[in-house]
Amino acid sequence: MTSYWLSEPAPSLRAVAVDDPEVVVVGAGVTGCSAALRLAQAGKRVRLYDAREVAGGASGRNGGFALRGMPAPFDVTVESVGEQGARELMAWTERALDTIEALAGNSFRRVGSLRIAVDEEERGELRVEFEALAAAGFAAEWLEGSELQVPGRFTAALRHVPDGVLQPARWVRRLAACAAEAGVEIREHTRVSSLDELGGATVIVCADGYPSGLLGSIEGLIIPTRGQVIATEPIPERLFEVPHYGRHGYDYWHQAEDGRIVAGGFRDVSFDTEFTADEQLTEPVQRALHDFVNGLFGRELRVDYAWAGIFGMVMDFLPVVGRVPGLENVWVAGGYSGHGNVLGFACGELVAQAVLGEAIPFLDAFDPARLLNMDD
Ligand SMILES: Cc1cc2nc3c(=O)[nH]c(=O)nc-3n(C[C@H](O)[C@H](O)[C@H](O)COP(=O)(O)OP(=O)(O)OC[C@H]3O[C@@H](n4cnc5c(N)ncnc54)[C@H](O)[C@@H]3O)c2cc1C
Repeated sequence: MTSYWLSEPAPSLRAVAVDDPEVVVVGAGVTGCSAALRLAQAGKRVRLYDAREVAGGASGRNGGFALRGMPAPFDVTVESVGEQGARELMAWTERALDTIEALAGNSFRRVGSLRIAVDEEERGELRVEFEALAAAGFAAEWLEGSELQVPGRFTAALRHVPDGVLQPARWVRRLAACAAEAGVEIREHTRVSSLDELGGATVIVCADGYPSGLLGSIEGLIIPTRGQVIATEPIPERLFEVPHYGRHGYDYWHQAEDGRIVAGGFRDVSFDTEFTADEQLTEPVQRALHDFVNGLFGRELRVDYAWAGIFGMVMDFLPVVGRVPGLENVWVAGGYSGHGNVLGFACGELVAQAVLGEAIPFLDAFDPARLLNMDD
């Protein structure tokens, strides 16, 4: 079955031809479209390729959560990059959310997000993140008891105030349209099978978890990981306007504009089988997702859409942005560990700025070479 988001018809893109591109971007998801747009705005001749269509990878198959920050909670990011670094990263992603809001039109709703606690242990973890955010001056709210939509089931929630929710395929198609308007040639349904065919252009690989075959020594080190999602029949009660995620992100759900519950996760019911680049649906995960939404509403809901997508996992939960070790003129941006809607947009801009020779922050923390020394 197809992604609910991608089932919406795609508007046609302006036809553009670019001869002798200076920069070739591989992957027309949020990262590639963001990078291509920024480069074209700076006057570069840019061609963007995708083996499928615009947003045909994870960018059109995800949960739609537009979250600030890194994949790990703020307090955990402080432990890995220090207080100052974590603050800068958080502020950078909040600025990216502002830019997304300005560009995304009706594909984005700024409703916040709720990180949910399912038990006392998780409640303690949320409290640590809440206090770290508040101490650093980032907007966050604490909810419990009757303030929660499903009080008996969850013990508390942390509201990330600036977050929102996307129709992700509509958003990335819109971003691609902006890139085409800025002069980017977009070649869909064209797989790049080797760097040699790209004629010496600077290359940026934006494939996140999809194996591109173009990353030399770090190929496979951004670990392909499958996520499965369902969308139910439209529900008249509007209970989950705000995206909810709990059990360390293993469950996530919200209600789309037309009332459908979009729910994803439950990788942990079959953990080992989900480290794969195969978009096959599996019975244990699908059953867990269906039981979960039935349980939320106390009745059997019809599932109208079910799909899978692949994201790129990195064990230190920081993205991978920079030059590919050992390859001349090849750059990469990806590895968002399931948190790429905002981060992918921001990292697309970042890698474009790096290619343009601008002085940019974070490249040490995001250095692709670290993957070569990482135990998984
Ligand atoms: C099920 C699921 C749920 C998720 N939920 C969320 C969420 O709610 N919030 C969030 O922030 N993140 C979420 N994510 C993660 C997020 O979707 C991704 O991190 C993000 O979309 C990555 O965007 P991208 O542009 O880097 O890569 P993608 O959108 O995956 O695009 C990569 C593209 O590269 C193309 N490609 C690869 N190799 C080649 C080649 N050799 N030649 C040509 N084209 C090639 C592929 O066809 C693909 O279209 C989720 C991911 C999945 C799978």
